[in-house]
Amino acid sequence: MYVHKQQVLLDVCSLDKHLSLLQQGCDITGGLYLKVPSLDGLLQYLLWVFLPEAWERKELVLPGRGRVDYRAACFCHRELLTIGYVCSVCLSVFCKFSPICTTCHTVFKIAGPLAIKPKKKKIKI
Ligand SMILES: [Zn+2]
Ligand SMILES: [Zn+2]
Repeated sequence: MYVHKQQVLLDVCSLDKHLSLLQQGCDITGGLYLKVPSLDGLLQYLLWVFLPEAWERKELVLPGRGRVDYRAACFCHRELLTIGYVCSVCLSVFCKFSPICTTCHTVFKIAGPLAIKPKKKKIKI
């Protein structure tokens, strides 16, 4: 990840839904991911969790990292997948088979109707 090479720490505060890709980014860069339970007291969360410098955080009792889900997300819905389809040209991940890659527009040749086993590789992560 680019930010990791630049030694940039990624902090994420989610106000609404769980952001699994950004949580992965926080974990990789050593930053903090926090999903606030409610908007009440948001300022307290921001001051308490995100204001301290990285070296000061070791001295504080901050919310734990928990388990980070490192599965790949599909490019169509940004949902984490266990098994999906990978474009053999650009390596985009999809949850459903499509005869045309929506990222690089490669057309996959399929023998017979779509019901026949697709030529795209199935990956297991
Ligand atoms: Zn999808
Ligand atoms: Zn592609």
